[in-house]
Amino acid sequence: ASSDLDTAAFGEQHIAKGIGRLTKHVFDEGKGTFITTDKGVKLLDLTAGIGVVNLGHCHPKVSAAAAAQCSKITHAQVNIGFSSAQIALIKELIPILPHPSLDTIFFWNSGAEAVEAAVKLARAATKKPNIIVMQGSYHGRTNATASMTRSKTIYGEGHGPLMSGVFATAFPYYSQFGGASPDTPTDELVEQALLQLKLTLQQQTSPSDTAAIILEPVLGEGGYVPAPPEFLHDLRKICDENNILLIADEVQCGMGRTGHMWFMEESGVRPDILVFAKGIANGFPLSGIASSKELMDRQKPGSMGGTYAGNAVACAAATATIQAFREEQILDNVAARSKQIFSFLNDLKSSNTKAGNLIEDIRGKGLMVGVQLSNPELERDSSAQSQPQLAPKIVQECVKRNMLLLSTSVFDVLRFIPPLTISEEELSQACSIFKESLEAVAK
Ligand code: PMP
Repeated sequence: ASSDLDTAAFGEQHIAKGIGRLTKHVFDEGKGTFITTDKGVKLLDLTAGIGVVNLGHCHPKVSAAAAAQCSKITHAQVNIGFSSAQIALIKELIPILPHPSLDTIFFWNSGAEAVEAAVKLARAATKKPNIIVMQGSYHGRTNATASMTRSKTIYGEGHGPLMSGVFATAFPYYSQFGGASPDTPTDELVEQALLQLKLTLQQQTSPSDTAAIILEPVLGEGGYVPAPPEFLHDLRKICDENNILLIADEVQCGMGRTGHMWFMEESGVRPDILVFAKGIANGFPLSGIASSKELMDRQKPGSMGGTYAGNAVACAAATATIQAFREEQILDNVAARSKQIFSFLNDLKSSNTKAGNLIEDIRGKGLMVGVQLSNPELERDSSAQSQPQLAPKIVQECVKRNMLLLSTSVFDVLRFIPPLTISEEELSQACSIFKESLEAVAK
């Protein structure tokens, strides 16, 4: 009987195969930067559950706030009344948002749902149908967001017809331009991307049909590429000139990840709609959008909402998360650990060793760090049929050494996205394991 199987085998038997999985470990406990499996194996977690537990697993203040909320009220349904847990969170959240115009919130559960909410708002507010996304983008796996996701075909393949009215334009990332190298000057990449956007608006979807441009200010699943600030400024200008809304999907790059609470803060560019999720509640399902009141209120009462929208326990966890960011000066640690990892990676790259020579490009901000590998077998032109070869192997070498690390994109990219609370010692342990794993593959 399947109940006799060990836990992982039972999972394989009864959990959908469509969920791809990096390891067969069974996660049983999490504390800070470590996860312990059901077999007692202690794993160094450089994934933070895909950028979610930014304060580490089971942060005591977050867990305590959630536990306290559990005995107060767990489900304060938003279409029936106000929720005091939600109001308390909004009071903490608005002051940390990247622009003062973002003063009205709608909460959802997952990142994809929040992206969909942003699209609904943009369409309803502008009365225009089309959405421009970036090539390489990831916005989720629901029908609308799979249509907007352009990092890999697997998310849409076989699931069509997907939501219509979505057009893709280029993100300023060298791997998307055949022949470009990591040394291509940023202004050239930006110029190429802006030219593509101009053509998109001339050839595919006219400004009068385009409700919004949505981008991840740091391209996430598509390769960990921060948008140059000048690109964000240019996008803002193009949006203003054409009555198009600018949506920033900060689901992965927000909540302190890049060393600011939000990546948009750094450029000073105002998004019309900010999408947040993942790190907001440090592991509890919560997401949402923020915009000006004038914009948000263009949707009719009753058109928004959902059973669990802004669940009370998740809201209490999020309030505690924001308070802990402040009290524990998390951003200071991000700055210090970011320096540490970039200096390690840069030294490794320039070490002229077999392992160092595998590194083609190091990029990112804060503790959202991408390492692109030089893989001569992986051609960069659009006809390339080859798949990333090295990154998945390096990931498995890390797993063998009890460290969790993710790869990403159709190019050979590894991503470091640890809890923002990671200590100097833990990070240097991670760097050693990474180096050993590169060496194992470079042999
Ligand atoms: N947007 C971005 C930028 C993301 O990184 C993700 C998740 N990786 C999503 C949206 C979707 O979030 P969720 O998985 O919570 O639906």
